[in-house]
Amino acid sequence: MKHGLRSLTAVLMAILMLICLYPVQSVFAENTAETTQAEQTAKPKMSAAELQAQGILSVGAKGDEVTRVQQRLKDLGYLDGKVDGQYGGGTKRAVIAFQRANGLTTDGVAGQETQDRLFAEDAIAAPDDSPVDVLTGDVPILVNKDHPVPGGEFFTPADLVQLNKELSSKLVTIKYKKTRGVKAAVDALKEMLEAAKEDGIGKWQISAGYRTWDDQVSMLNSKVRSYQKSHKDWSSSKARRAALRTVAEPGYSEHHLGLAFDINKKGASTFKGTKQSEWLNEHCWEYGFIIRYTEEKEKITGFEAEPWHIRYVGIEHALYMRDHDLCLEEYIQGLEDGSIVNPATRDSSAGTADTADNTETDPGESSEEPAEVTEEPAEADEAA
Ligand SMILES: [Zn+2]
Repeated sequence: MKHGLRSLTAVLMAILMLICLYPVQSVFAENTAETTQAEQTAKPKMSAAELQAQGILSVGAKGDEVTRVQQRLKDLGYLDGKVDGQYGGGTKRAVIAFQRANGLTTDGVAGQETQDRLFAEDAIAAPDDSPVDVLTGDVPILVNKDHPVPGGEFFTPADLVQLNKELSSKLVTIKYKKTRGVKAAVDALKEMLEAAKEDGIGKWQISAGYRTWDDQVSMLNSKVRSYQKSHKDWSSSKARRAALRTVAEPGYSEHHLGLAFDINKKGASTFKGTKQSEWLNEHCWEYGFIIRYTEEKEKITGFEAEPWHIRYVGIEHALYMRDHDLCLEEYIQGLEDGSIVNPATRDSSAGTADTADNTETDPGESSEEPAEVTEEPAEADEAA
């Protein structure tokens, strides 16, 4: 009997040890985008100092070993901040970026494996972070659940401008004043909104444009939190899965390109069914935009329909996609397999489409909005 009790104690001890190790090893690994969440809900049992005594560096660690790791991260282009011997959030982010690029578990903890890799001669340096011309090339860039932006968190589009400096407030309300976009796309937006105005369609609001990696991280986290608040019985991974149906994973949002905008009607809780939505649906193509996520293509795009999310691809591509009823995935597939002749490279004398057929001059457009609120988010800006 005594023996049985002893082995039971041993088993319990082993389980306890596994539980102690678990948060460090895998809760962070499961999901880097959710680190704040993970930190709050699954604090490692061991302190940073205790881990450091075992050669494992994590947030809170300090001293020469941290300095050494930071310096190496800096040399490899992962660390922007100071080399100060303090393992804080910046160091953790740099470690995660290093781990991702080097095919390691992305837990933000510099354990033995990470340190070995970090100081190896063939450690992979950070990708080039110089701004990318997103409009170069004959084929629009595809970003979706299978195609992240090149360079991940190091990706920045070239030629970003602030929308409220380019677009008059008489033309459109920019909900967040720092919203940016790629100049060519913003110019097209301006032209489109001016045409809409001539057609008597105003009251536009832009609630999203270019998004950084960090923007997307916090957006996804807040969506996860809101699901957890409204569904107390949901696990964090279930809440995260639900969030990912409408918010893209960092690196996988089209908003990173600076070519996508969320445009809606100011003050309306639902965009679908408004005059603005109808106008956009009919005319955005003529200015080089596509409605990126439609109901009929949900299975292909992987996103629920978002009538407010437009993506700039250029006029030739947009018109072709409209005329052949193709979403971007189908279109690019066709260009790649040769079943579509690229309209942007085909020598054509055909001018741009007629833009100003004045058929929709209805000054009373704002009075007949459907009052009902659909399942759409109240702020129609929580888009992919
Ligand atoms: Zn969007």
